[in-house]
Amino acid sequence: MHVPFLSFTYQNTQIRSAIQEKSLRFLDSEKYVLGPEVTAFEKNYAAFNQTQYCIGVGNGLDALIICLETAGIKPGEEVIVPANTYIASWLAVSQVGAVPVPIEPEETTYNLDPTKIEAALTPKTKAIMPVHLYGQPCNMTALQAIADKHSLFIIEDNAQAHGARWAGQLTGSFGHINATSFYPTKNLGALGDGGAITTNHPDFNYQARLRRNYGSEIKNYNALIGRNSRLDELQAAYLNVKLPYVPTWNAARRQIAAYYFSYLNQVTKITLPAVLSAAEPVYHLFVIRTNHRDALQQYLRTHQIETAIHYPLPPHLQAAYQHLGYRKGAFPITEKLAQTCLSLPIWPGMTEETVQYVCGKIKDFFTKR
Ligand SMILES: *Cc1c(COP(=O)(O)O)cnc(C)c1O
Repeated sequence: MHVPFLSFTYQNTQIRSAIQEKSLRFLDSEKYVLGPEVTAFEKNYAAFNQTQYCIGVGNGLDALIICLETAGIKPGEEVIVPANTYIASWLAVSQVGAVPVPIEPEETTYNLDPTKIEAALTPKTKAIMPVHLYGQPCNMTALQAIADKHSLFIIEDNAQAHGARWAGQLTGSFGHINATSFYPTKNLGALGDGGAITTNHPDFNYQARLRRNYGSEIKNYNALIGRNSRLDELQAAYLNVKLPYVPTWNAARRQIAAYYFSYLNQVTKITLPAVLSAAEPVYHLFVIRTNHRDALQQYLRTHQIETAIHYPLPPHLQAAYQHLGYRKGAFPITEKLAQTCLSLPIWPGMTEETVQYVCGKIKDFFTKR
């Protein structure tokens, strides 16, 4: 059986006719930039994420950059970021001239370890950027307590966690201003690039809106030096079609994760993701760990099971970040995760039989060793 790492087929079947209709209505609307679909999506996504405001932008990286600018993060200031994250979180900080200050993750949840943050704070620290990696919410109770105590902004990177909750509250609604991405592979994905900012603060809403559109509220009058990073009208139309499905697609991901947990819990040579009791993850990815990662991946590949690695090289070891001077060994937990993590196939529409097949091959691999 060929098992792709990710398949859109099931989702696309559900939305196909609505997408077709929307595409032609879009053509005929003659409103191609910041039109009614973007306005509707901003309202719909704010309701989905239970925030006062949503601002549609071009992509997730721009969303993070505009969040940092709107929060007033200045060149030379410091932002706490996870050492173990997709590099976009770091790049955004660097793009505004600030310095990413990496913190090791908890080895069990792969997320920012709140107990390690205070030792890294300096007078230049202005914000903490929690990333709900793989759809697992960070411990927002602990992070908010630290942010409150030291008067820091929280800017959530919610790109992988649409619909996840911590202590009953949706991720992307904790921070002062938060970013997300609708890159096609995300739990809510556009059919191209897209992103959004969520906030409950009226002035942040106002400023972020200016910043994504040339710093202009009234055409040809520019209040500040803004960007061009508007959510594309056609992508907004598609996102409006897909958004109502996200709760059931997330439930499908949770069910697949439950199958993985039940079929793999006897395999002693792998570690399954830990879920803290306040956490309701949405399993953007299902990431296991094993010391035999490369051999396991190869074995699964020969059985036509596609897997992936998120991420093989941590940001501090990337060529782009050599100037920060971190050597190999600087963040041992992060580096170990990079060497041992393996993302198993997970997508809405993946059947229990398929999960069973994948788990069977994983068990075969370990019994043959
Ligand atoms: C996908 C992703 C982003 C960036 O999204 P783009 O839309 O591709 O720019 C940022 N942070 C994390 C954690 C992501 O997974």
